Parts: sequence; structure tokens; C-alpha cells
Amino acid sequence: MKSQRYLTTDVAIAGAGPVGSFLACLLGSAGLRVRVFEQREKPPDRSMAIGIMPVSLRRFAAIGLDARIIREGTAVQCAVVHDAKRELGRLSFATLPGPHDYIVTLPQSTLVSILWQRLRALPNVTFATGMRVEKIDQSSSETVADICPARGGHCEKIRCGFFAVCDGAHGSLRGLLGVDTPVKPYGMSFVMGDAGDETGWGNVAHLFFTPGGSLESFPLPSGRRRWVALADSDDRTETTGAQLCRRVRKIAAVRLREADLLDSSRFTPQRRLVRRYVKGRIALCGDAAHVMSPIGGQGMNTGLADAWHFAAVLVAATGQLNGYERLLAGFERDRRLAFRHAARRAACSMWIGTRRGRGASGLRSWIVRGALSFPAATERLAALFSMWTIPEGTDPVLHALQKRLIAPGPPAPDQY
Ligand SMILES: Cc1cc2nc3c(=O)[nH]c(=O)nc-3n(C[C@H](O)[C@H](O)[C@H](O)COP(=O)(O)OP(=O)(O)OC[C@H]3O[C@@H](n4cnc5c(N)ncnc54)[C@H](O)[C@@H]3O)c2cc1C
Repeated sequence: MKSQRYLTTDVAIAGAGPVGSFLACLLGSAGLRVRVFEQREKPPDRSMAIGIMPVSLRRFAAIGLDARIIREGTAVQCAVVHDAKRELGRLSFATLPGPHDYIVTLPQSTLVSILWQRLRALPNVTFATGMRVEKIDQSSSETVADICPARGGHCEKIRCGFFAVCDGAHGSLRGLLGVDTPVKPYGMSFVMGDAGDETGWGNVAHLFFTPGGSLESFPLPSGRRRWVALADSDDRTETTGAQLCRRVRKIAAVRLREADLLDSSRFTPQRRLVRRYVKGRIALCGDAAHVMSPIGGQGMNTGLADAWHFAAVLVAATGQLNGYERLLAGFERDRRLAFRHAARRAACSMWIGTRRGRGASGLRSWIVRGALSFPAATERLAALFSMWTIPEGTDPVLHALQKRLIAPGPPAPDQY
């Protein structure tokens, strides 16, 4: 009988969105052998996430990409908050503990392209595009996955020490692992689009909370601006772009032409948390594990933090198949806690962004105005919304390992 030939690696990763790519860069930079499988041939062209929080910038420094991300992005130091009649106050990030006292906006598609470039330059990372992970099995000592060309063809098997599932919100692997849970939609939609910026607002974000609905506007690199409005109808005869332009004109008195939109889409915020992040030596990171409302801009950043924690666990655990369970149990506990904090903030942003009508909107204006008129409260809000106060985890071993990620040690022993 012909014996099956296996590909081998220390760590295999399914999915090279921002989270899987970042994890691979961290592990590759720390000397582990990594194989990444991505079903797409090219980075996505839809922009989706734009906000990169200071805590994520600090983590990108571990792979030497912070300076490039800051250079290619736009540093946003202040958000001006309005209601229908007046300015309610300003949320400044200048009070954040340095060095990054701002949030960087950079389209997710650009971030993924930067990470893919880095992946391809790391000698111990093998990056295969156009390849889907179809199945994962594990025994007490190894994990084996089936890897197949996304367009059909001959499948291969890979044997690895650890497996990271980073296949995103629509991925199928958490279902195959039996840890999936149903998504809970918020029951309301937003329209969103990017366009050339003719507002003259510079690098300042503007948030409008009016009785007729909310509108958020963020500066982007290359002279562009992102607009996100609470959708006000499900009228399918009006295109998403037309509705967005109408909402922007009505709420912010800015003329946006549908033809000028570079990208427009409609999304319905959802929430989900898997039953377990960890199953044996397989862990889920990013949207594969959790989804929260994009309002508040925390989903990708929470996923990047998952990758950061899982990388620290793997740097310690690869090459020693005993003793990793405690680290993975800590990862499960810490990431659940971080999700709860981030999801509460996303829910709070949803509450603020979805009040309609005079009464509810008046109450919101009163709360927001009150909070932004006290410097201590503004400082606290800036720390909250920039994710400074999301718990990092309590395990001292993990913290020591995260420091080692910043200053990589020698390559791990060649075990697989
Ligand atoms: C409109 C919108 C705006 C957002 N804005 C923000 C924001 O400002 N800030 C923020 O932090 N977050 C934001 N988010 C959330 C953010 O986009 C997600 O959290 C982020 O994409 C998660 O990254 P990921 O790598 O986990 O998953 P994904 O980006 O979904 O990547 C998963 C990858 O896995 C691949 N894949 C899937 N299945 C397989 C398989 N079986 N084998 C191989 N490859 C596979 C996919 O092709 C994909 O490339 C926003 C989301 C939306 C929808």
C-alpha cells in the first residue's frame, strides 16, 4: 500500500486575513516554522476595518511594521461630536499614554497587503494562496489537516504541532470542530462608503447623533474619507450609495455624489462568541472566534490581540508537547475576558449610535455633552474607545513570553 506523504510544520494557519497574517508574521519572526493557507489568490479589495488602535500599533512594532503602518495611514487625534444643532464636545486621544496618542486609519485591504508582503519575505513561513483547509483531525500527539486547492484539484495532508483557525466570520472550521454558536444580529443596518474628502476637516473624525439617525465620518489616507450612517429604510429601489449620499447631505450638510463613492456597502452588525477558543492543540483567533458590532471599531483589533496572545503561547509550547495545556487554558480565559470587555464597548457604541426620535436623542445629547465637558471623563472615554483598558491577561508567564516576541530568541527545535 502506498503510504501518504505529509507536509510538516510547527504551526499551520487557516486564513490570512489581518489576524492569521499577523500571527504568521509573529511566529515566523520568532523562528518557528509556519505554513499559512489562504483560499483567496489576492488580498481582498473591500476596505472593512479602518481603525488601528494604539495597542495594536505597539504589537506591530514586534514585526517592525508599526512605522510603515503609521506612514501609510492617517493619524486621528481627535473626534468632534455633534447633535442636530450644535457641537457637543471633543474626544481627544492626545492624553493617551505615548508613543501612539492617536488612532491610525488604514483600509483593511492595505493592511492585509502589507502583511502578505512581510509573510512572503520571512524564510521560515510558507504562504500558500488559493488553498483551502477542508478538515482538521487531532490525536494526542499531532494535528492533521486536509488542504485542497480552492478551485478544485488534488488535496494534500499537513501534519503540525499546533493549528490556528483564523478563517473569519464566514469560515466553516469552527463548525467542523463543534464549537460554533449562532450569530445574534442587532436587527438594524448601516450604509457605508469611502469617497474623496472635500470637507476640509483634515485629520479629524466627526460623529453626528441626531433624532433622524447617526453618521460617522473618519479621515482616510490618500485624501479619502469613510462615511457610515444608520440605514433609515430597507427600500431596495434606492441603492446603498444613493442612501448614503442622502443621509450625509441631510445630517452633515455635505454633498457627496454617488459616482464619487469608491466603495459602498450595507452591513448588519452581529454578535457571536464560540463555545471554546481552544480544542486540544487547535485555537481560534479573530472573527473565527468572535464577532462584534463594527461600530466602535474593535473587531479586528481584538483579533490582533488574540494572535498576539496565541503567538506567545506557541513560542513557549512548540517543541515541548507537555505543559502547553496550562498556557492554552490561560489563553482561553484571557481572550474570553477581553472579548467581554470589547463587546460591552461595542454594545455601548451601538446604543449611542442607534437612538432615534427627539426624546431618546435628547437624552443621548445630554449624556454625551455631560461626559465630554469633564477632562477626567474625556480622558477615560479616550482610553476606553482606543482599547487601552482592555485587559491584557493575568498570566505572568504569558507576559514574559510576549516580551520575548518583541526580542525574538533562537529558532525553536525542529520537531515536526
Ligand atoms: C463594515 C465593517 C467595518 C469594520 N470596521 C472595523 C474597524 O474599524 N476596526 C476593527 O477593529 N474592526 C472592524 N471590522 C471588523 C474586521 O473587519 C474583522 O474583525 C476582521 O476582518 C477580522 O479579521 P480575520 O483575519 O479574523 O478574518 P477575515 O478578515 O474574515 O479573514 C479570514 C480569511 O480566511 C480565509 N479563509 C476562510 N476560510 C478558509 C479556509 N477554510 N481555508 C483557508 N482560508 C480560509 C478568507 O478568505 C479570509 O481571507 C469591520 C467589519 C466590517 C464588516
